[in-house]
Amino acid sequence: MSNSTHSRRGLMLVISSPSGAGKTTLSRMLMDKYEDVRLSVSATTRDPRPGEEEGVHYQFVDHSTFETMIEKRAFLEWAKVFDHFYGTPRKAVEERLEDGKDVIFDVDWQGADAIHDQMPNDVVSVFVLPPSIDALQKRLEARPGSDPEKVERRMAGARNEIRHWRRYDYAIVNEDIEVAFKELEGILTTERQKRLRQLRLEPLVQALLDEG
Ligand code: 5GP
Repeated sequence: MSNSTHSRRGLMLVISSPSGAGKTTLSRMLMDKYEDVRLSVSATTRDPRPGEEEGVHYQFVDHSTFETMIEKRAFLEWAKVFDHFYGTPRKAVEERLEDGKDVIFDVDWQGADAIHDQMPNDVVSVFVLPPSIDALQKRLEARPGSDPEKVERRMAGARNEIRHWRRYDYAIVNEDIEVAFKELEGILTTERQKRLRQLRLEPLVQALLDEG
């Protein structure tokens, strides 16, 4: 940490919520406003979908490459979801933090736990809650391509995700997206001021003391 030439160490903003509560919108709003905040790019063994770009949406790798990456401990966390493997590469994250830039992780509570275990001092975790079950259901019903069965499945998943809200440093109730965004911004700017993240302070304080 101390030999970095940057004025601050970046942070890892881990955002979780049940689907439909707004974490993706909030993450996007944060990236639109702050150019030094970017999503972590995962590696996956699945094929790219139309419009997906290598290195932007995912790092697309084959099975044996993924297995080698597991063996070399290249992932902060990884999981098998349906038939494919997904993982968060460690090196890219560490480089960004050392470069004084922040990384967002849009992950569920298990991913959040695993990332926290690996880099506890760098993680700031935020749970986004819906204002009510009704509001959540309405948001899920309004999604393009939604059907009653899908909504029912997501509602069950939502309750399961919400149960883990106590594991997070911060919680935001997303009743009004603009208010929720202001609260998220407040968390980001406050956490950036944490003494241990402000690498430029050591030489500054030393200079202040030397001048006396
Ligand atoms: P999709 O294939 O639709 O892009 O993603 C499928 C699922 O994999 C989603 O639930 C997504 O959150 C999850 N996923 C994507 N990247 C990662 C990752 O790096 N780690 C874990 N644990 N899950 C991921």
